[in-house]
Amino acid sequence: MVIIKSVKFKYHRSFDELFRDFSEMIEFCIDKALELNITSYAKLRKAIYEEWKKRWYPKYHTHYCHSACRVATAILKNFRKRKRKGLAYKNKPEVKKEFIKLEEMLFEFKGDKVKIVTSPRKEIIVNLVVAEYQRKFIEAWKRGELDIGEIIIKKDFIIIPFKKIFKPKETAATITIDINEKNVTYSIFDKDGKVIKTVRLDIYKVKRIHDEYSKKRQKIQKKLAKKPIKMRKILKKYSGREKRRVENFLHKVSKIIVREAEKYNAKIIMENLNNLRITINRKRKNIRRRLNRWNFRKLQLFIEYKAKWSRLPVKYSDAEYTSRLCPICGYMLNPNGQRLLKCNICNKIIDRDVLATLNLFKSECGEFRSPRTLPDEVLLIKEDGTGELLKVDEYYLMLMKPP
Ligand SMILES: [Zn+2]
Repeated sequence: MVIIKSVKFKYHRSFDELFRDFSEMIEFCIDKALELNITSYAKLRKAIYEEWKKRWYPKYHTHYCHSACRVATAILKNFRKRKRKGLAYKNKPEVKKEFIKLEEMLFEFKGDKVKIVTSPRKEIIVNLVVAEYQRKFIEAWKRGELDIGEIIIKKDFIIIPFKKIFKPKETAATITIDINEKNVTYSIFDKDGKVIKTVRLDIYKVKRIHDEYSKKRQKIQKKLAKKPIKMRKILKKYSGREKRRVENFLHKVSKIIVREAEKYNAKIIMENLNNLRITINRKRKNIRRRLNRWNFRKLQLFIEYKAKWSRLPVKYSDAEYTSRLCPICGYMLNPNGQRLLKCNICNKIIDRDVLATLNLFKSECGEFRSPRTLPDEVLLIKEDGTGELLKVDEYYLMLMKPP
């Protein structure tokens, strides 16, 4: 399995002509594909190659034709998908004006600069702005640990995808992660199954962001009811912003978790989402459910990616093992529909999501020892990715209060 990390590099140079020509090539490819009803890259390339050559060769290397065809088929695929869902309103997809994607043949990465081939005999050297973050990738690339994928040039930055093959390392611990609408709970176990610690990350912020945008959407729909085209445009802009804000936040949450996994050199176990147990509000049930599923899966993927980048193995548990046994005394717990359970035998109050992290361990690794019933730590994660430590008992008092 290949893992890719796309790193942005700023640069100071104008690509106006290349931007214009490349978007014209893509427009040309899209028009042809629509006209000839072609969906596959190979067929499209074959169909347009001669005409492309007449128009753009030898100003541009023939590999620009391949890159343009690839981008055009990807845009069209996405467009057809949106069309099927009723989300695309035009007959033709829009082409980004300041966007170039280059195949490996068309550039050479040199660490702090990129050599871009335009025609068979012409090259452009672009100096990249290298900060500390980018430096790490360049060093690893120089050591031969990373390869480079197809680069993307945008107006303000160049995206360089660094690739490596995933080779899992020996781990000394296990971290099980349970994801919910409002929180992420994880437990770390040592080699003998002893719980080292259990942590709750409160990710209520995700819901806050969605609520904020849902209010904004309602306002816009009301205000622009008589201007549907303008309304659609603005709604699209807002939904893009909403998505980016949530993704940014989830990236930060995943970073916290993977840092912890790295610290304990732990393999990661998460629940396969097909078995997901969710409690959701009745109101707007389907939208909420879809949104939540999407967020859960996104967060899992972010965790998986970051973990694999650090060579930590990741496993999804298929077990439908949702035991309701008290982790302390082993007697059956009574579900009460809340996020807390009570054992009638040993009188312990047990957090359902903490129990889920224990069950994940049990179903994949075996018996656990010294389990927690409530988390050792509760962290409220803010949008900038910092965590505010909450007092555990106060947090549960807050949870039990009616909203
Ligand atoms: Zn008990």
